[in-house]
Amino acid sequence: MADGGIVVRGVAKSFRRRGEFTRALASVDLDVPEGQFLAVIGPSGCGKSTLLRLIAGLATPDDGKVEVAGLDPLAAREAKWFGLVPQAPALLPWRTVRANIGLLREVNKRGGRANGDGHLIPVDVDTLIAAVGLTGFESALPHELSGGMQQRVALARAFALGAPVLLMDEPFAALDEMTREEMRFLLLSIWEGRAADGTAAAPRGSGRRPRTVVFVTHSLEEAVLLADRVVVMSSRPGRIVDDIDIGLDRPRSAAQEDSDAFVEYTRRVRAALRSGAGR
Ligand code: ADP
Repeated sequence: MADGGIVVRGVAKSFRRRGEFTRALASVDLDVPEGQFLAVIGPSGCGKSTLLRLIAGLATPDDGKVEVAGLDPLAAREAKWFGLVPQAPALLPWRTVRANIGLLREVNKRGGRANGDGHLIPVDVDTLIAAVGLTGFESALPHELSGGMQQRVALARAFALGAPVLLMDEPFAALDEMTREEMRFLLLSIWEGRAADGTAAAPRGSGRRPRTVVFVTHSLEEAVLLADRVVVMSSRPGRIVDDIDIGLDRPRSAAQEDSDAFVEYTRRVRAALRSGAGR
């Protein structure tokens, strides 16, 4: 069976709107192996979202090709290889927390393994609800929750899908710094399979499929804290100006943020950002 890796080859994308021509991405090459947590960082408007949308099959490249799990993005989306976590939680306002989290999963289940869904990661919804700290709020409606809680629902929903690839577009950007920090560690604990009793996701090394993550951010600290690897993009048209392996031990902790190694990685990412901005 194909694995949940991503291949981006020579991808370019421009937009033409009301006579205005914007070159969003120059030539982007990127290989994301299955199970890698990749952060993509770059200045605002450099094409990060565009890159994610191309991987998600929500846009098509003018040049080059994108593959997810060896499939064209549209086919990969059909086969539920990935889940997309947008900037805003986009919850269904009339559905409870539980229904919002479980909705896509129910749709998937009906499709069943007969449709070749064997790559989906089995997930227990109650464990996931506990992992994101929403036990007791299962019947609440989105408007009864704070912004941070809504984003936790969106996070749980993304994992509940069981998709082996998560595409995340600045999912914590609208949150205050404290909530944001909390969400980073929450994401890591679910991704690493440490959440609650550890059944919320495939623990690394457990023999189950590890999840691949592409996480778009414009925060240096967020990129270094979360990722195995940080790809730095230049200002528009976006291209990759640096590709940095983050060798910090896992599980990651808040204490690591004060370590010399952490500071050194953020320094390198910052320098790449500056060079990419032509400064
Ligand atoms: P980022 O996520 O890095 O902030 P985006 O990928 O959203 O950047 O946008 C890159 C550039 O492409 C921006 O100049 C943006 O205005 C432009 N762009 C993105 N999507 C469209 C679109 N659908 N139509 C026209 N221009 C677009």
